[in-house]
Amino acid sequence: MGKRRGFDTIAVHGGQFPDQAVGARAVPIYQSTAFVFKNADHAARLFAQEESGPIYTRIGNPTNSVLEDRLAQLEGAEAGLVTSSGMAAILLALLNCTRAGDSIIAGSQLYGGTYNLLSKTLPRYGVNCAFVDASDLNGWAEAIRNVPRAKAVFIETPGNPNLNWVDLPAVASLARQAGLVTIVDNTLNTPYLFRPLDHGADVVVHSATKFLGGHGTAIAGAIAGPIDFIIQARADLHRDLGTTLAPFNAFLILLGLETLSLRIERHCQNALAVARFLESHPAVAWVRYPGLGSHPDRELALRLSPKGQGAIVTFGVKGGFEAAKRVQDNVRLFSLLANIGDAKSLIVHPASTTHEQLNSEQCRSAGVTGDLIRLSVGIETLDDLLDDLDRSLKRAVI
Ligand code: PLP
Repeated sequence: MGKRRGFDTIAVHGGQFPDQAVGARAVPIYQSTAFVFKNADHAARLFAQEESGPIYTRIGNPTNSVLEDRLAQLEGAEAGLVTSSGMAAILLALLNCTRAGDSIIAGSQLYGGTYNLLSKTLPRYGVNCAFVDASDLNGWAEAIRNVPRAKAVFIETPGNPNLNWVDLPAVASLARQAGLVTIVDNTLNTPYLFRPLDHGADVVVHSATKFLGGHGTAIAGAIAGPIDFIIQARADLHRDLGTTLAPFNAFLILLGLETLSLRIERHCQNALAVARFLESHPAVAWVRYPGLGSHPDRELALRLSPKGQGAIVTFGVKGGFEAAKRVQDNVRLFSLLANIGDAKSLIVHPASTTHEQLNSEQCRSAGVTGDLIRLSVGIETLDDLLDDLDRSLKRAVI
């Protein structure tokens, strides 16, 4: 066996063999619904799964296969499956380990869409969820021991937008001893910063919409994990639910992956500098970023993700809800929108937008307060970002 290739080489080349037909160097977009069989026997072998090859794009597509293979390699997984969105990936991963009557145990600090899926939608189909405070190891242990018919543990680390880190090695070890599958949403880190499978997780899910694509151009999702898990998810669920990623979107995510480490390094540098700047700003009440000395999970974050703490920074504006809303209206470079993980810097006030439908107890457990602003710090020139924030904070608050 040859030497294992490095992360950046895999990010640029993984899963691709230059096109046999015309020698295209970029990954071709196989914009075809179905694929011609060589003959009747070939067709029969593909359907009997005695030979692998594309049949119909709902189930598999050659452009998507390159992305599946590349992501699996980057996450250190046996296999991958790409899906139409991050939510589709989370849904398939959860359904793949449960039946009606089973339960999932999840950390309560989650992306709002995932919280809704677990608390409202899946229970309608008989799959229930017990939420635990993600930072409370005793809480995890108790839930893993006591929740009836628990099949999986679901973790987002760090949680969006609370940025709390979960002690994944400890939780995954408890889950493994009890025979539960540990699923980690690795959207905020990407495998460049943190590889959950190296720390005891069984399955990784992604909203590839965010940092993997990196340019705010395509909705996409991915699962990476053991080959049996992926085969079952593809054959039993993906095929029947039609959670297919368009090949053009797979192409966009593949382009993004080529520059993943370069972008993430800059995201981390800029985010840390923005967090430090905000800490000393007179209009700011508090700042949360796992790279700051003031963050309660700093030690854990530095241990599990030593290369950096990502692009997301949250902070509280003096003057509360209304002042925080006003900051959004005064930025010029940051874009006011509900997304993260773009090369461009983004800003949102969750209490009046993404979390507006949650009640105060749900907002409290998600860590969303009225004064909180979430930034997804981009890769622009740092001084321009600081100027934009300084000017808009002064206008909104002082
Ligand atoms: N997971 C996390 C952490 C997210 O932030 C999001 C979206 O914001 C999702 C999953 C859902 O991803 P998508 O919008 O691609 O369905």
